[in-house]
Amino acid sequence: MTQSPAVRVYRGTPRNLARLAALLRRGELVAVPTETVYGLAANALDGRACRKIFTAKGRPAEDPLIVHIHGLGELATVAEPNEAALVLAREFWPGPLTIVLPKKNCVPDVVSAGLASVAVRMPSHRLFRRLLRLARLPLAAPSANPFGYVSPTTAEHVRAGLGRKIRHILDGGPSHIGVESTIIDLRDPRHPRLLRPGAVTRQELERALGRKITAPAAKAATDRPRMAQIAPGLLQRHYSPRTPLVLHGRIPRRRAAGEAWIFQAKPAGRLGPNVFWLDERGEMSGVARRLFAILRRADQGGFTRLHAERAKGSGLAEAINDRLRRAAAR
Ligand code: AMP
Ligand code: MG
Repeated sequence: MTQSPAVRVYRGTPRNLARLAALLRRGELVAVPTETVYGLAANALDGRACRKIFTAKGRPAEDPLIVHIHGLGELATVAEPNEAALVLAREFWPGPLTIVLPKKNCVPDVVSAGLASVAVRMPSHRLFRRLLRLARLPLAAPSANPFGYVSPTTAEHVRAGLGRKIRHILDGGPSHIGVESTIIDLRDPRHPRLLRPGAVTRQELERALGRKITAPAAKAATDRPRMAQIAPGLLQRHYSPRTPLVLHGRIPRRRAAGEAWIFQAKPAGRLGPNVFWLDERGEMSGVARRLFAILRRADQGGFTRLHAERAKGSGLAEAINDRLRRAAAR
């Protein structure tokens, strides 16, 4: 067996950023911090570079990648924006919103999984933005984890999952938002559809567009994305810990000892090593930020089963419950 070369974790110094930008321009993969989760980035205009993403992640070729841009001016180089897309871009970019639009030819088929559309986002993370500016390229990046596992929100999560498959990780600290971007399909601007809930909420999008947005039906999450033709890549079983996970509206009082119990807020009473909480006071932004890190920790605790309490309310709770539902799907 050949030894894989060691992975290196870089701090965001000007020198390191220049080096990583040069590597990206040469067609190499770099794991990058973003405000949502860590991404595995490659030159979005280079089909060969993007194919390496699928190999490293073990990601099926029919799951398209999100293209990240530095400025609004780049949108029209990769996609065909309409007025609705520009309204949302001006309102929510840079930020955790991805917009699906008709694709321009310069975007290779591997990126869009053969679809005539492309998903585009302008991220807000300071280091990722500096890297995008230095690379002078749109960067395709899915989450930097082995396909199907819980998304990474720290450089250490990336190293633990892909350390043997990739060479370069830029450390930008823990992801501030913690769940993947909201995805809205605006191919037909008269019928906007929410493909994935995230930190930009459906209510905020509806307000900005001045119209109703179709929510993702439970059926829209499918293991046969191509056949369903609804939301390519929105696989039902995704973001999953290896230990079976059960969801509850409320965590029961009697709790088995060998099982892990994940509360939204810190519970009262005696707390054993099998009790976890997502945010001290159960605030949604804190819950989202720590959700994947806590799922990982509980997954590694040697428990026979994980139990998690669902989030209550709308807005960000919709995204949190979407990820919990996927993590619990078998
Ligand atoms: P990830 O980067 O792993 O968070 O996943 C990217 C997701 O974006 C995919 O799984 C799809 O759900 C969605 N996506 C990317 N490109 C398209 C597209 N052209 N049409 C619809 N959805 C897309
Ligand atoms: Mg992913």
